[in-house]
Amino acid sequence: MLDDSSLTPQTSALGAPAGPAPLIDPFQRAISYLRISVTDRCDLRCAYCMSEHMEFLPKRDLLTLEELDRLCGVFIARGVRKLRITGGEPLVRRDIMHLFRRLSRHLDSGALEELTLTTNGTQLTRYAAELASFGVRRINVSLDTLDPDKFRKITRRGDLKVVLDGIAAARAAGMKVKINAVALRDVNADEIPDMIAWAHGLGMDMTLIEVMPLGEIEADRTDQFLPLSVARQRLETRYTLTPLPDRTGGPARYVRVEETGGKLGFITPLTHNFCESCNRVRLTCTGQLYMCLGQEDSADLRAVLRASPDDAVLAQAVVEAITRKPKGHDFVIERQRPAAVPRHMSVTGG
Ligand code: SAM
Ligand code: SF4
Repeated sequence: MLDDSSLTPQTSALGAPAGPAPLIDPFQRAISYLRISVTDRCDLRCAYCMSEHMEFLPKRDLLTLEELDRLCGVFIARGVRKLRITGGEPLVRRDIMHLFRRLSRHLDSGALEELTLTTNGTQLTRYAAELASFGVRRINVSLDTLDPDKFRKITRRGDLKVVLDGIAAARAAGMKVKINAVALRDVNADEIPDMIAWAHGLGMDMTLIEVMPLGEIEADRTDQFLPLSVARQRLETRYTLTPLPDRTGGPARYVRVEETGGKLGFITPLTHNFCESCNRVRLTCTGQLYMCLGQEDSADLRAVLRASPDDAVLAQAVVEAITRKPKGHDFVIERQRPAAVPRHMSVTGG
């Protein structure tokens, strides 16, 4: 049921209106972080993420950049302080800089704390300077190997040099880069210590991610899955890992690698459940709001948005959706089980 109090403007201690109520879910978690997938398309086909022959959505199903901007505005008015643009590959969406330019006004006004993106890095040489000029200060670049042949194999088509040049361009533009690597048992497990040394040597933090059962792919995910508990034990034979207290409200747990001085994160949805501190929701490129990456329930904000020009109606739909945010996800990877969630990561946005 919709709680009407969450729709009415609150009053500050001094009696002045303090703006609309923030988004609080049934488990008292404040929703301050929105991840937005702006396209399901990508110029790569990473083997754990997509199948070789993906069918992409027809363009008419996608929210326009103006619609995305309007929706983001509604979330920001309700207390969302951080936006992450993702995909698919966000930088292959046509005119995507237009959206960054529009969203940067919320940084200028102070309503938004951070505007950031997750990218495969292939288009960064072209866009890094513009992104920096729109207030993007930190980005995540996904990179699973530093071996050009392996890179081509994992991504089924990518050129490692293009990504490395993109990372260099982002750093030259003054952005802080974090490297995200999916830990893949027989593919990059042996390379992880060297990748950490490389990233930390350039002053970039790194995060390791466990493969999640999202979307049907050709490979069996039990063959790809490397529990990060195992990866961490192996790392401890080479490095001294000191746990850090900082939690960003996100799923990563961090350590300091004493030998490099750099920060290393572990995103472990399967071996460690992080849902109790979840502060985020995800919007797909078709305007479906997923309250949890690992659950099926979603709210169709595109229908509401296209039915009414009134932002109050849209805000009401958002508030109602947040009342349905579940306590946590149900991921399990078991042999011969279909994907726990049929959507690919590229649809919900990683
Ligand atoms: N294309 C961009 C990129 O690769 O950074 C943004 C979208 S991608 C879906 C976001 C992140 O999700 C990437 O770091 C990718 O490695 C990760 N990812 C994709 N499929 C995954 C899966 N099944 N399990 C875990 N991580 C996955
Ligand atoms: Fe594309 Fe990112 Fe998925 Fe790789 S992980 S296929 S780069 S969306």
